[in-house]
Amino acid sequence: TGELAADGGLARLPFDAAVVLCGNMVEAVLPAPPSASVLESAERVLNCKGMSVVPGLIEGHAHPSFEDYVETTDAGDMPPEEGVLHTVRNCSRLLQAGFTSAFSAAAARVRQDVVARNWINAGYARGPRLLAASPEICPTGNLGDSSALHQPRQSFGLVADGADEVRRAVRLCIREGVDTVKINIGGDLVPNNLLNADRTDMLSAYGEAEVQAACETAHGLERRVAAHCRGSNDVRLALACGVDVIYHCDFAANDSSILDALQQARGRVFVGPAVGLMHALAPDVPDVKLLLDAQCRTYAELRRRGLRIVVGGDYGFRATPQGTNANDLVHFQTYFGFSAEEALVSATRVGGELMRLRVGQLRPGYLADLLVVDGEPWVESGALLATEWSEQVRTPGIKAIVQDGVFVRNDIWSV
Ligand SMILES: [Zn+2]
Repeated sequence: TGELAADGGLARLPFDAAVVLCGNMVEAVLPAPPSASVLESAERVLNCKGMSVVPGLIEGHAHPSFEDYVETTDAGDMPPEEGVLHTVRNCSRLLQAGFTSAFSAAAARVRQDVVARNWINAGYARGPRLLAASPEICPTGNLGDSSALHQPRQSFGLVADGADEVRRAVRLCIREGVDTVKINIGGDLVPNNLLNADRTDMLSAYGEAEVQAACETAHGLERRVAAHCRGSNDVRLALACGVDVIYHCDFAANDSSILDALQQARGRVFVGPAVGLMHALAPDVPDVKLLLDAQCRTYAELRRRGLRIVVGGDYGFRATPQGTNANDLVHFQTYFGFSAEEALVSATRVGGELMRLRVGQLRPGYLADLLVVDGEPWVESGALLATEWSEQVRTPGIKAIVQDGVFVRNDIWSV
C-alpha cells in the first residue's frame, strides 16, 4: 500500500515489504512478497504478516542514571555504586521498552553514563546504543546546584562559574570519556525559581562568555554540546555560541526573531521539549503548567518551521518512570499537533540523525535495529507503550525487538 523511494529507503508509511537482514545490517527492503530466489537464499524467513516492522525507537533526551527522583538532591543522595547499578538496569529497561539507541541528556555523576556505555559496548550488559553525557554543568544557584551555605548538597550538576571554570569542567568530563557535554544555560523552577517578574519568560543563568567557552572547548575536542534552555534569551545564546542540541526552548516563541534563527539553523541543531515530566507535574504545580503552555506555543511553531524535534521527556523521575519513555510519542500528539506518524519519525529517523549513526531508518546499509509491532504505530502510538515498568518492562504491542541483527526479545517465533 506504500511506495519505496528510489534508493530503496522508506518513502511513505506504510508499505508491504520484506526486510532482508545480513549480519547486523539491513541489506535490502524489497516489495513483498519477495521473489523465490530471495526466499531460497535466506537462511531464515520470519513471517511478519499482519504486523508492522519499524525502526527501533531512539530516546533523544535520556537520563539512564536517574532513578525515581522526587527532589534534585535525590541524585546526590544515591551512593555512586548504586548509581552505576541503576544506570545499567535502566539501560536494560530502555531496551526492553523498544529503545535501541539513546542520546543521554546528562548523567548524575561524571562517569555513570560512560561506564554504562562501555559495559554495553563490551557486551557485558544489554542496553541501547548509548551516547554518554556529562552531568549538568551549571553556575552557582542554578538547576544542578542544590547546596546552601549551611548545607552542601549534591545533585546532578557540576558547578562551574566563569569561562575558565566552565572550560575546566568540560575538559574534565571529556577526559573521563563523555560523548556529549551538557550545560544549563537557562534557569529553572529549582533551586531558584527563575521565572521573570511578569512570569512571561525565564532568566538566563549563564552569560555569553561561559556558553562560548563551553562550546569552543567541547567542539575543539570534537564533542557536541547539549543545553538546558527555557527562556528566549537562553535559546538566543545557544544559537549564537553554536550549541548543537537545544533542549526545552519553552519561551522561544516569545521572540519571532529567535524562531527565525532556529529555523535558519534547522540543518545544524536539534531541539527537544522533554515534555514527559512537564505533562506529569503540570496538574499539581502551577508554574510547570505555565512552562508546558509556553512549550505548546513554541513547539507548534517549531514543528511548522521544520525543526528536527526529538522525543525524550526526562524519564527517571518518580513522576516519569524509566521504561515509560514511549509516552512522549502520545504527548507530541496531545500538546504539539503531531500526527502519530510524525511522532514516530521523531522517535526514529530524527533520533538517528541525532545519534549520528546509521539507525532510525530501515534502508540498505543501516544497522539492523528494528521492532515487530502488533498494530499500526504510524496511525496509533498505543502499540508501542509500556503497560508495566516497575519490576520489568512489558510492552505487549511490541512482539520482537532486534538490535544489531540479534533478537533482544522474541515473543513470536521459535528460532
Ligand atoms: Zn533532562
